[in-house]
Amino acid sequence: MISDAPAPLENSAKHWEMISCPVCGSESFTPLFQKQNEPFVRCESCMLVLINPRPAHNQVLHTYDHDYSEHYAIKGEKKLRRCRRWVNRVRKRYGQDGRWLDIGCSVGFVVMAAGEAGFEGHGIDVESWGIEYGRKNFHLQNLRCGTLEEQHYPDHYFKVISLYDVIEHVPDLNTLVAEIKRILAPGGVIDIITPDIGHWRVPRSLENWGEIKPSEHLYYFNRRTLSRLLQKHGLEIVKKRFNTKPALRVYVQHSN
Ligand SMILES: [Zn+2]
Repeated sequence: MISDAPAPLENSAKHWEMISCPVCGSESFTPLFQKQNEPFVRCESCMLVLINPRPAHNQVLHTYDHDYSEHYAIKGEKKLRRCRRWVNRVRKRYGQDGRWLDIGCSVGFVVMAAGEAGFEGHGIDVESWGIEYGRKNFHLQNLRCGTLEEQHYPDHYFKVISLYDVIEHVPDLNTLVAEIKRILAPGGVIDIITPDIGHWRVPRSLENWGEIKPSEHLYYFNRRTLSRLLQKHGLEIVKKRFNTKPALRVYVQHSN
């Protein structure tokens, strides 16, 4: 199978950082295996699987280069249809008014689909090529380049915030989740899709799972670990969608 991911960076050039568990704060990890010289471990307290130590932040960001977005744009029609399905599921359940923010929007297919469905679509991505492509070719003016924290959106600004195959990539998870909580409107919803390490179709020898991606997928959640991360920040999973593929899709709202 040809992966979407670009070739990994040379390990010899990396700086490494050791982190405490972003879910529970523990510093005790059980080694699982290595892939491309990157150590995959399991937190002994909450069971989150992650890469630790891992390549330093600035080098992880470098894997999102031009090729990554271009590859994504080429598969456009299929991607757009899928985004429309995702958006419509949210619309049916939570209504179609207000602003929708797609985090990790690439060229903006989700933003476009949200606009078609009646939302005011916004998108951000750390990689500039996709943003420029979406603005120019799809006339999406609300696409911004950079991290979420850099955008300084007002409190309670968004009715819907989506993170589709994004949360597993983000170096500073707790900063991201705290910021999402701040900008989510009361009664608003966060739609998250991420690989599901707790799914029955994940191979028993984990290193053979297609979602194991050094430098790219930094964390491997199941419902319990994702729920615990969100709870720390005053958010809760209100629905988990059934999925025949090993992907976790959850709707998240403010907890009371
Ligand atoms: Zn933990």
